[in-house]
Amino acid sequence: MELDLGPEIAQFRADIRAWIAEHAPAGLAEVTDWNTVATTGGYSSGERARAMRHPAYAQWEAELASARLICPQWPAEFGGQGMDAVHAAIFNEELYRAGVPRVHRGMGESLVGPAVIVHGTPEQQATFLPRIVCGEDVYCQGFSEPGTGSDLAGLQARGEIDGDEIVITGQKLWTSGAQRANKMFLLCRTDPDAEKHAGISYVLIDFTDPAASYRPVRQMSGAAEFCEDFLDGVRAPLFNVIGGLNNGWRVAMTTLGYERGGSATIMHLGYEREFWDLAETARKRGASSDPLVRQQLAWAYSQVQLMRFSGLRTLARLAEGRQPGPEASISKLFWSEYHKRLGELAMTIEGTDALVRPDGPGYPTTAWQNVFLSSRAGTIYSGTSEIQRNIVAERALGLPKEPRVRA
Ligand SMILES: Cc1cc2nc3c(=O)[nH]c(=O)nc-3n(C[C@H](O)[C@H](O)[C@H](O)COP(=O)(O)OP(=O)(O)OC[C@H]3O[C@@H](n4cnc5c(N)ncnc54)[C@H](O)[C@@H]3O)c2cc1C
Repeated sequence: MELDLGPEIAQFRADIRAWIAEHAPAGLAEVTDWNTVATTGGYSSGERARAMRHPAYAQWEAELASARLICPQWPAEFGGQGMDAVHAAIFNEELYRAGVPRVHRGMGESLVGPAVIVHGTPEQQATFLPRIVCGEDVYCQGFSEPGTGSDLAGLQARGEIDGDEIVITGQKLWTSGAQRANKMFLLCRTDPDAEKHAGISYVLIDFTDPAASYRPVRQMSGAAEFCEDFLDGVRAPLFNVIGGLNNGWRVAMTTLGYERGGSATIMHLGYEREFWDLAETARKRGASSDPLVRQQLAWAYSQVQLMRFSGLRTLARLAEGRQPGPEASISKLFWSEYHKRLGELAMTIEGTDALVRPDGPGYPTTAWQNVFLSSRAGTIYSGTSEIQRNIVAERALGLPKEPRVRA
């Protein structure tokens, strides 16, 4: 089914397609298979970083920047095009279709920026957003702490007001990409006497401050993709508190809404391509004639189609100018659990080869082994599957928080 979005959108699609054909530099497709990078986890962050250093990538980034097509949804005064959700989804679809990367500013674009746009003052927006668009500020997320993951509101990092500054002391954990970040957005407790959700503030800090340090956490794969961080009296101007003092929980919910549901409108594109890669792997291995494998592949295909239709529902919500709500948890639960099962199916299809690692330094894995292993993380970060189920039950379905026990 193709959704008919009317002649204006059809023209926009044609224009974007033509623009990509004209401006994408030759050699860009060789950088790597970008269409699968987005979802499969089939590439390590090292491979991704290498690809981003390719001259064709730099040229493409410059082309997109001059056409204001980096963070295209952001208002024009901050470097974007003010695209609405429908146009942005079409833009993303066309990039996928052409096999070229969407130059993305990571957590700055997908998590902090939307929170600053929704809750920041015009001065904060003018200060923080353009620096994300041009790639000068790279953010990491300082939410989790030792002992505070699912129960985020139980966080202990302290934020004390000293004149016109906030001084932050505490420890953060599981901070993805902290090694590459010069900024961190974090949550800290600014009113220890308030009810636990109420005394929290959302602050942007300079992560190169000498009072901030980090230690990489090495994983079983040999890679160290996240860190634990030590904040020993890091100072930030009060200007950097987004949404007002002690109002950080609301801002954090905006960030988490985008983290869980932000890519819902286009994620099916990557998963669909990945599905066909797996179907092809099954064919090559002679597994596609196995009725059990065929049944599982049919299941996987139907799940991707459900993702697609669910994405259209999210798109409709965004097109009405509404933010992702608790429904974002449905999307997060769905894709992460799907992907974990797909990884298991890939291992079945690979058969005994799934047990054999390729040669190489560290702990190398094949792309499908990587999907199998890394898809497990998807059911943990941005809130575990259990937490998503709680949110769906309580806030989307309106079920009672505590089970009622009759006397
Ligand atoms: C790959 C990866 C990247 C990450 N990146 C970041 C990052 O950049 N920044 C950041 O701040 N954090 C990051 N995290 C941390 C992530 O947000 C937490 O791991 C997650 O919120 C779970 O918290 P926890 O690990 O403390 O587990 P816990 O909260 O200790 O949970 C342990 C188990 O108990 C279950 N559980 C807990 N509470 C409930 C409940 N109320 N009802 C039912 N079951 C429950 C959980 O589902 C889980 O199975 C990342 C995690 C991963 C895996």
